[in-house]
Amino acid sequence: MKKQKIGDLTANEIRDVDRKELKVKLESYLANVMHTTFERATAEELYKGLATVVNGQLADQRMEFNRKRIHNHRRKDTSKKIYYICMEFLLGQSLKNHLYNLGETEMVEEILQERDMTLEQIYDCEPDAGLGNGGLGRLAACFMDALTADGYDATGYSLCYEYGLFKQMIADGWQMEVPDNWLPGGRVWLNAREDDSFKVKFYGDYHEYWEDGRMKYNLEHVQEVEAIPYDMFISGADSKAVNKLRLWLAKDWDGFDMASFNSGDFTKAAQRTNSAEMITKVLYPADNIEEGKELRLKQQYLMVSASCQNIVRDQYAIYGTLDNFEKNTVIHINDTHPALCVPELMRIFMDDYGYSWDDAWKKVVGTISYTNHTVLAEALEKWNEGLVQSMLPRIYSIIQEIDRRFKEEMNTRVFPGDWGKINYMAPLGEQKVHMANLAVIGSHHINGVSALHSDILKEDLFHDFYLWVPERFTNVTNGIAYRRWLCQSNPALASLLDETIGSSYRHKYEKLRDFAEFKDDASVQAEVEKIKRENKVRLGKLIKERNGIDVDPDSLFVVQAKRMHEYKRQLLNALRIISRYQMLRNDPTIDMRPETYIFGAKAAPSYYLAKHFIQLIVKLGQEINNDPVISQKLKVVFLENYSVSVAEKLMPATEVSEQISLAGKEASGTGNMKMMINGAVTMGTLDGANVEIREAVGDENIFIFGQKAHEVEQNLREGYRARDYYEQNDLLRDAVDALEYGFAGESFSNIKSYLLDPSYSIADPYMCLKDFDDYCKVHQELQDAYEDRARWNSMSIVNIAEAARFAADRSIDDYAKWIWHTKPIV
Ligand SMILES: *Cc1c(COP(=O)(O)O)cnc(C)c1O
Repeated sequence: MKKQKIGDLTANEIRDVDRKELKVKLESYLANVMHTTFERATAEELYKGLATVVNGQLADQRMEFNRKRIHNHRRKDTSKKIYYICMEFLLGQSLKNHLYNLGETEMVEEILQERDMTLEQIYDCEPDAGLGNGGLGRLAACFMDALTADGYDATGYSLCYEYGLFKQMIADGWQMEVPDNWLPGGRVWLNAREDDSFKVKFYGDYHEYWEDGRMKYNLEHVQEVEAIPYDMFISGADSKAVNKLRLWLAKDWDGFDMASFNSGDFTKAAQRTNSAEMITKVLYPADNIEEGKELRLKQQYLMVSASCQNIVRDQYAIYGTLDNFEKNTVIHINDTHPALCVPELMRIFMDDYGYSWDDAWKKVVGTISYTNHTVLAEALEKWNEGLVQSMLPRIYSIIQEIDRRFKEEMNTRVFPGDWGKINYMAPLGEQKVHMANLAVIGSHHINGVSALHSDILKEDLFHDFYLWVPERFTNVTNGIAYRRWLCQSNPALASLLDETIGSSYRHKYEKLRDFAEFKDDASVQAEVEKIKRENKVRLGKLIKERNGIDVDPDSLFVVQAKRMHEYKRQLLNALRIISRYQMLRNDPTIDMRPETYIFGAKAAPSYYLAKHFIQLIVKLGQEINNDPVISQKLKVVFLENYSVSVAEKLMPATEVSEQISLAGKEASGTGNMKMMINGAVTMGTLDGANVEIREAVGDENIFIFGQKAHEVEQNLREGYRARDYYEQNDLLRDAVDALEYGFAGESFSNIKSYLLDPSYSIADPYMCLKDFDDYCKVHQELQDAYEDRARWNSMSIVNIAEAARFAADRSIDDYAKWIWHTKPIV
């Protein structure tokens, strides 16, 4: 603590005053709302009390920040307003993050000491805000954190799902989904703004006609839904900025269908209300897979329409005109889920503000930018034209006109007569609305999320667009909220960094690189090793509590934690573990360091194969962990309900980060970055951001195996035959055959036939068998390196240091500079 004099008080004295003030606020909340006292309050009550007090502090700070925002646009806008729209924000818990950002952690710790309570006990009372599936939603949350820490004027828009991502329970190896009713504990962070709602129109009878040389239309008998905003404050570390995440909740417009009710049809009245309120009832639990359900489209349009109306109204209120809209406004769409922003903004500009098509189009393309998140064919969004036309008739008509003009321009100016290309690029085709094409056509910039992924966009998925407008395509590699994933989750490592390189890295991510200078310092190496071991012990306790398994803190901790998906290849990891198991069964006396394999993964509820992969890992674990001899050297742990709060406990204890997707399929990955910054060494393919991790740490500090992305493409073109690899490699054949005999009484012959002779598609479509041999060899190299403790600790230090470039702050710098053309306001 700095001994700084402020007025007559020292910093410590000010903190005393602040602490007393905070406690008085807490006590008054406990008395007035909870009807209890500080001395008697339960942990749950203290959590709600603290959250309410902190929320109030953020509200005060937000008022201050609003003054700065107003001042900024009075100065004729040196910067733009950023609106970040995404169907998912996977925030996790907030109290710990806000206390850290406000610098109040110690203060609250002291207050709780009076009750013999720890902060952890209070944090454990907060449910995760699980309003997202995985990487995409977590990225949006990390970006809001960085935008705020760095002083940008930014608003996030999403939906207020009453139920977030399901909670996972495992029963006899099988995933069960339990509803995530997060609002009872989570609502303390939501500030309802019923006064600021917007109407969103669905369905209706739509007729176009011409009058005075202009197209006009009638739209009658629409279903109107009210979108009510629930605002959450976003804080940033020691930042003057407090931003907002605005979550829309759907409500029937009149609250109730009185006409039906009065005429005695109660059921119909209740149904209408229910159907509106169903829209934001639950998050779709599918990650990287397209659902195509009517309700999902309704969710998308509700979010898009309410957000766009809100943005345009606010900008008009500030400037009194929309003529400079695109100069003052950034609208960023995270993936194609909000791509209806393109026609919706056109509708607002033309229908509500009287702009011509050409003027409106210039504004739309001047404002919107789009991040692509996947090249997987099964994840690219396409909506049935008929569905869009009936649910959103005016929007559909605008999409048709975008499509008509686009095709005309391509045919006259860009690819004359090349209808193969033109149809492939168009928003409409084969009775579908192609959302990625719509997003590209309506955006001034399109970016991928790692260098490799952005190259694939240019060379493959969006190649024809790239030929047309190359200047629109760019890359912004993903990043993580490193204060959450390092400073808050791994305080011991953060303290070691403070001692070695000073604490400035907590604000300037580049400074973290200074830690690399200590890579050969024996005492720092020893510290890093000690901290890792303590974190492993702590995780071991959690595993004991949750799974009843004893893990050895001196075993090697190998972690693969991410959504369960074929392309991520948890199956490849499992096959290798089976092979280790068979090796030990053949010779239990082998002298080796014990190995602990830890998995965390949710499967989409309807993704049966993924659920079978989970079952395989759990059953394999059961068999291995219950074998008194084998379990001395091998353990397999499946951590239930992988989520942000579980990840925060897992990352600091990870030693080997498994990032083994089939090259070309993982757009970036961010789990790889979280593990790296906690000192884990990557075992990975050259996919997504792994490529850049390798560039950052150098070949000697990472373990890379398997086909490269272009080799995958070539091998698939030339005809991949999985069975050849099965027949040629004895270890692999034994592992695959073992699937049939099964584990802990459960056969996995379905997975064996998936790998060798499926009834559909090609065998082993993600090429686990082809990469198996190299995976095993390189894994052995990694494990040999681990036994040279000085070498391993030095690798660990380099990984921590070079994770600097994967700070979300760096990603936001890139977006601001290359795409949004704006800067911070404080
Ligand atoms: C970071 C994170 C992810 C993304 O992990 P990847 O390995 O990049 O797929 C998914 N889920 C949670 C809870 C996360 O925190």
